[in-house]
Amino acid sequence: MTTMDIRVGLGHDTHRLEEGRPLILGGITIEHSHGLAGHSDGDIVLHALTDAILGAIGAGDIGELYPDTEAIWKGADSRIFIEGALARMQGLGYEVVNTDIIIHAQRPKLGPDKERIRDHVAALLAVEPDRVNIKAKTGEKVGHIGRLEAMACQAVVLLQRDLRGRDHGF
Ligand code: MG
Repeated sequence: MTTMDIRVGLGHDTHRLEEGRPLILGGITIEHSHGLAGHSDGDIVLHALTDAILGAIGAGDIGELYPDTEAIWKGADSRIFIEGALARMQGLGYEVVNTDIIIHAQRPKLGPDKERIRDHVAALLAVEPDRVNIKAKTGEKVGHIGRLEAMACQAVVLLQRDLRGRDHGF
């Protein structure tokens, strides 16, 4: 019997673009005319990643844990959300194996920023940078991404925990 418990989680998020808002992706502020609207700082990368982690541990989603009807989360640094999900994950004995993240943005070109985003996300997750991958895709000028109405993000995360020395009833 294997001693490793492996979990996969998937997250997705979309936020509208608004002129004059700061653009924050993966905790990194990116120079741009528009930013992501939202109750919090609108960081689609950390929201999708939070949902992926919560999904992997069967803990619901970000909206259940941090309802956007609560004033306390208004303008919140999304680091709070990822740290909350990580605390739950660690409480269950899991660690992050890797994450793969796709940012859907027509503009700006994120090529130069991908490495900064990756390094920051890796630091938040306390893993080596090669366990985090950031991809950027345009919307091919169609749909809500291509028409510059919104940005979206998808994240998949793999977690593992070592069951040796744990009593899981088998
Ligand atoms: Mg969100």
